[in-house]
Amino acid sequence: MTVTAKKIQMVDLTSQYAKIQQEIDKAILDVVHSAAFINGPAVKNFQAELEKYLGVKHVIPCANGTDALQIAMMGLGLKPGDEVITADFTYVATAEVIALLGLKPVLVDVYPDTFTINIEALEKAITPKTKAIVPVHLFGQCAEMDELAAVAKKHGLFIIEDAAQAIGADYISANGIRIKAGAIGNVGCTSFFPSKNLGCYGDGGAMYTNDSELAARLKMIANHGQSVQYHHDTIGVNSRLDSIQAAILSVKLSHLDKYTAARRKAADFYDKSFSAMPAIKIPVRSKRSTHVFHQYTLLIEQGDRNKIKEQLAAKGIPAMIYYPIPLHLQKAYRDPRYREGDFPVTEMLCSKVLSLPMHTELDEETQNYIVRSLEECLSL
Ligand SMILES: *Cc1c(COP(=O)(O)O)cnc(C)c1O
Repeated sequence: MTVTAKKIQMVDLTSQYAKIQQEIDKAILDVVHSAAFINGPAVKNFQAELEKYLGVKHVIPCANGTDALQIAMMGLGLKPGDEVITADFTYVATAEVIALLGLKPVLVDVYPDTFTINIEALEKAITPKTKAIVPVHLFGQCAEMDELAAVAKKHGLFIIEDAAQAIGADYISANGIRIKAGAIGNVGCTSFFPSKNLGCYGDGGAMYTNDSELAARLKMIANHGQSVQYHHDTIGVNSRLDSIQAAILSVKLSHLDKYTAARRKAADFYDKSFSAMPAIKIPVRSKRSTHVFHQYTLLIEQGDRNKIKEQLAAKGIPAMIYYPIPLHLQKAYRDPRYREGDFPVTEMLCSKVLSLPMHTELDEETQNYIVRSLEECLSL
């Protein structure tokens, strides 16, 4: 036990900041001195930089990823009673905004290997009321977007990508074209929550689209339904990315590819270390997507996952369960349509997943300690 001098964390934002402190501090102070806290030049600069990075025509910044999803659904004109299909294995925000808008969340199971939405199950869940599909690019890799887009086209459905965990991931379509996660569907949504792959120092989010008319609507809805001040054409919300966060994001965007490379290196190290341990199933990489490892999530195939998590904690190693309860078994989303056993893959995943520390500042010594400790826990 040599490592514990520095506390092991799921995400180490302090060490990350230390390396870019001068750039970040200057960016923050520039905004403070300009006093352009809301909709200042820093927001427009970041917006343009992100458009360029993603290869999309329009980025519409907003207050957080949950708002991005909500505004996307409002912008597409979804109406109460419309059905929106999403994955049962996801963070709650996805289903939450569907329900909040009076739309009907329709849940489907995921693939056991990549944890993304099962396309056959998705097509079976389509009814005449279905209006949109929300694939979630979970843990850092894209859902099967070629197949999903074909289903959406056949049935005339919108695609809203929840790319909150996958910024920077490339989808590689069957014809070899590479597109950034979130830039494929009608709208892509992301979050700049601090621990996300591109995180700010507070809350933030954005929508992306290549549809200029839709972009104008999204922008208007995010701004109280006005495109001309005090002329409210539609009911909107107040959802802004503030200038300080945008300035921080510009700095961090310039490091994003390097950060992704660091995450991949850490994931490769874990993969190699765990490949000979039969009790562990390492994350399966999609053939059609690069992986940006928002999370490094393995399955504990033998042994008591919850006990192993506690034993790791006792050794100073945090691990997290993303996610412990499927959406269809959450109290708030209970629905007579669904019962236990309906989504066997999600239910299995919820009982076996364990996410290990994954961030841009992991070193091999720390990872070695994590690997050895997990091995010990498994043999207890
Ligand atoms: C983080 C996250 C969100 C919500 O983002 P916030 O900025 O926290 O509102 C939505 N969907 C997924 C999959 C997420 O991981």
